[in-house]
Amino acid sequence: MSPDWNENTHPQEVIRWALETYPDLLMPSGFNLNGVVLIDLAYQAGYRGEVVFVDTGYHFHETLQTRDRLAERYTGLRFVTLSAGLGPEEWGQERYRTDPDGCCAVRKVAPLQAYLEQKKPSALLNARSREQAPTRAHLGFVEPGERVRINPLAYWSKEQLEAYAKAQGLPVNPLYWSGFLSIGCWPCTRAVRPGEALRAGRWEGRGKSECGLWVGKNAI
Ligand code: SF4
Repeated sequence: MSPDWNENTHPQEVIRWALETYPDLLMPSGFNLNGVVLIDLAYQAGYRGEVVFVDTGYHFHETLQTRDRLAERYTGLRFVTLSAGLGPEEWGQERYRTDPDGCCAVRKVAPLQAYLEQKKPSALLNARSREQAPTRAHLGFVEPGERVRINPLAYWSKEQLEAYAKAQGLPVNPLYWSGFLSIGCWPCTRAVRPGEALRAGRWEGRGKSECGLWVGKNAI
C-alpha cells in the first residue's frame, strides 16, 4: 500500500512514488483543467510515458486545440489519440439523445478498454478530485485493483488547480474560463451556472453523471 500520506501530501510526491512503483504507468486524459495540471505535475516529476485521449467524434474544437497545444509543449510525452471503431451508419446516429450510456460505452469506454488490454499497464494516472462530484467525494490517492489507479489530485480544490495552472502558464481549454468547468462532448456539455456543482453541466437531464470510464461494470 501507499506511504504515510495525508490530504496535505503534494501531488508530486504521489506521482514520484507511482513512477517508482509502477514504471509502466499510463495516463488517460480528457484535457480538462485537472488533466492539464496533472500532465504538468507528472512531467515535472519525470513522467515520460503516454497521454491517451479518446476522440469520440463529438469533442469541442477547443478541446482538440488544447490537446495539440499540450503536445507541442510537452515534447517528451507521447500523445496518443484513439477513435471509436464504429461503422459509417453508427457515426451518423445521434445515440447520445436516447442512449447516452450506450453512446459513452462505444465511443469512449470501449476504445480505451481495447487499448489498455493491448498495452496492459499495471497502473493508471488519473486527474479526478474529490471536489468534482459526490461520486468522487471519497477518492483516495490510490485505488487498488487489477489495474491500480493513482489519483494525485484527489485533495486539490478548484482554486488550487486554477492557481497552479495560472502560475505555470498552462494551456487550459479556453472554454473553461467561460464556465465550462467540466468539458466532455459538445452534445452533453453546457457551461456551469453560478452556485452549481462543478460537473452540473454534463449530461443535464439525462440521469447520468459519469461517462463510465471510472465507475460502473466496464470501468477501466
Ligand atoms: S459524452 Fe455524450 S456524445 Fe460523448 S460519448 Fe458520451 S453520450 Fe456520446
